[in-house]
Amino acid sequence: MIREFDITIVGGGHSGLFLARALAGQGWRLAIVDPQPVAAAGIPADGRNLALVRSTREIAERVGLWPFLAPVTCPVEAVRVRERPGGAGLVTDMGDLDGLPFAYGVEHGALRGALAEAVAALEAPPRRFENRLVGLERNGRVRLLQLADGSRIASRLVIGADGRGSRLRELAGIRLDAWSYRQAAIGFVVAHQRPHRRTVYEWMRPEGPLALLPLPEGRSGVTWVEPEGAARRLVAEGETALLRRLAEETEGLLGGLRLTSAIGVWPLGAQHARRYVAPRLALIGDAAHGVHPIHAQGFNMAVADIAELAAALARAARRGEDPGGADLLLRYERARWWANQQRIWMTDGLNRIFSSEALWLRPVRSGAIRAVAALPPLRRRLARERMWLV
Ligand SMILES: Cc1cc2nc3c(=O)[nH]c(=O)nc-3n(C[C@H](O)[C@H](O)[C@H](O)COP(=O)(O)OP(=O)(O)OC[C@H]3O[C@@H](n4cnc5c(N)ncnc54)[C@H](O)[C@@H]3O)c2cc1C
Repeated sequence: MIREFDITIVGGGHSGLFLARALAGQGWRLAIVDPQPVAAAGIPADGRNLALVRSTREIAERVGLWPFLAPVTCPVEAVRVRERPGGAGLVTDMGDLDGLPFAYGVEHGALRGALAEAVAALEAPPRRFENRLVGLERNGRVRLLQLADGSRIASRLVIGADGRGSRLRELAGIRLDAWSYRQAAIGFVVAHQRPHRRTVYEWMRPEGPLALLPLPEGRSGVTWVEPEGAARRLVAEGETALLRRLAEETEGLLGGLRLTSAIGVWPLGAQHARRYVAPRLALIGDAAHGVHPIHAQGFNMAVADIAELAAALARAARRGEDPGGADLLLRYERARWWANQQRIWMTDGLNRIFSSEALWLRPVRSGAIRAVAALPPLRRRLARERMWLV
């Protein structure tokens, strides 16, 4: 038996769940396919922590998600950046951004749990398939999806939210530009003696940036970038040595530290799909683009994709149009591809400049940070442009 839907989302991670909520009430017959069971509670903390920027909060409010996210997030009211070895520093606070928080810190498992809860709370939640996509065909006005257990779905539109290694992207034959930074991010969450004061602390070091993100319950999320081999060695030394090194790197700022999550290690690279759309198919989130975590952009870019696609589908629903129409898909791609390409170049350039050992770059880096620190209009502009970590 082939089950029929208007829209099928492949991937029920952060992007897929956010999109499912954004499409609610539009009247589409909706399905989500993901092999991972997505219970609202009990999603393990993998060590990753994310900063959600203001525009993400605004979109979350519009689609009724914010009441679920607010309790698991911590507002970021100030950002302190210190450059090493130059010593240039920069502090921005909410005065640079109309007196509102820059961003909201959230731990990965808590975010996914809150999104799952918000989707489960819908009056007509999407049909879930706890399964993996393995095959894709075109058949007239639908796409046929084959799942690992042999079952099949016919869908007028299929949306790929299946992450960096997207199987859907591969099956659709969409090519990818990808490169490695030969760095890895270590991510974990700590409880600490001294308060974080709702402040992001970031050290721009030649090895890679190290950031502390304020989280609820007075904890902080650590994202610590090192050359790949060094990152693996650091983690292999064990929890006590890792926390001792963290205390040294962060100048003892938070006092005594205690680990409260798993320790994750992510090899870092950037990638961008050459197309976001194919007949009756669109990509969003990490399936479409992946960036260095230096400027907390990845999921925030995904939310901007979701807002664009959900608005286009809402218009189609009102006019009684086909959700997989070519014009709709091309407009989505035009609106998002170039905007994301600019973010990819920006994060790539900043990482190369700040992670370089080249001596001639040191005064350039320090000069740039001092200039931003000394010029409030420039600081405000960067804050508004979502470059809140500079
Ligand atoms: C260390 C680190 C720090 C970060 N910090 C930030 C930050 O501060 N701010 C920010 O915005 N972003 C940040 N990011 C990026 C952010 O984590 C990602 O952009 C975001 O989680 C991507 O979500 P996604 O749902 O698109 O993909 P994923 O989270 O990868 O989800 C993909 C889903 O698809 C499912 N799937 C896979 N294959 C199949 C298949 N064949 N069939 C069906 N389902 C499938 C998987 O089970 C999974 O549930 C960070 C990333 C890292 C590594």
